[in-house]
Amino acid sequence: MLIPRFEYHKPSTLKEACEIKGKFKGKAQLLAGGTDIIPNMKKRIILPDSLISLNGISELKSNSVSGKNRCARIGACATVSSLIRGKFLLPYSALLTGLESLGSPLIRNMATIGGNLATARPAADLSPSLIAYKGKAILCSVAGKREVSLDDFFLGPGKTILNDDEILAEIILDELPACTGSGYIKLGTRKALEISLVNVAAVIALEKPDGVIAGARIVMGAVGPIPLRATTAENLLMGEKPSDGLFAEAGKAAAEDSRPIDDFRGSAEYRRDMVRVITVRALQKALHDIR
Ligand SMILES: Cc1cc2nc3c(=O)[nH]c(=O)nc-3n(C[C@H](O)[C@H](O)[C@H](O)COP(=O)(O)OP(=O)(O)OC[C@H]3O[C@@H](n4cnc5c(N)ncnc54)[C@H](O)[C@@H]3O)c2cc1C
Repeated sequence: MLIPRFEYHKPSTLKEACEIKGKFKGKAQLLAGGTDIIPNMKKRIILPDSLISLNGISELKSNSVSGKNRCARIGACATVSSLIRGKFLLPYSALLTGLESLGSPLIRNMATIGGNLATARPAADLSPSLIAYKGKAILCSVAGKREVSLDDFFLGPGKTILNDDEILAEIILDELPACTGSGYIKLGTRKALEISLVNVAAVIALEKPDGVIAGARIVMGAVGPIPLRATTAENLLMGEKPSDGLFAEAGKAAAEDSRPIDDFRGSAEYRRDMVRVITVRALQKALHDIR
């Protein structure tokens, strides 16, 4: 199927890209890996007048661990494959599992972390862990930069707080405190090249080795219009010693926190029950990951 005609822009700096985006606003779409937008253009779901390629902008592809607090700064156009290969995300096990489970090798070579967030698909693989790590996003426009919490980034399916003239430039993850671990579980109807039926990312921090839980974040995907925090489950874990019984209770609470719908891929009832099951597994993974 042919792609409809469009004007093509290939800026070489973020500043230039912001100027073009500011000029065309909603009439221009950004092109990162193209794994989402190109199929949608072929299907005539999105018909932009212009495409602004971000591929020539090296600053959007650079990753670093920087600052006194050793935070990880991830360029929005870093591809999934490059992030898996880069050693700097090793402490973020849940994110790495999400990256490894995204699509196929071909998709991972093209797809970017920024594109994954910007599409705001409720079942996307990277948003649950990025939210669970309290990730932040840097959004740029000609007016300047703003930093937003990923907790506030998603507004609904396909909708984010990105304004028409803004570009997602960077994702920032703080260094994980000592005694912290994380885990991500994705459930699909098959083992590869599958969009999640349900997914859960969990991050837990212990007060001290073998101590009580001092921090817990559980984020569920594909069971609501946006990735959802399982706050009842998180509160239940706080101040308690990790145990199978506690995690089972947290799983039940997370199922209550979820808001799944029936669709052709699974019923709401099945999804809710799977939230219960995979929350327990994500918590167990997080506990074993504690470093
Ligand atoms: C066969 C197949 C399998 C897939 N499997 C999975 C999967 O298992 N898990 C999963 O989560 N996803 C999956 N996807 C969806 C998709 O590959 C990912 O969401 C990918 O990360 C999108 O990134 P991209 O760089 O290709 O985005 P693009 O297609 O380039 O862009 C997507 C949208 O985001 C906007 N955008 C891109 N970058 C920015 C930016 N920096 N700032 C602001 N807006 C931006 C674009 O304008 C566009 O509207 C799959 C897709 C296909 C085709």
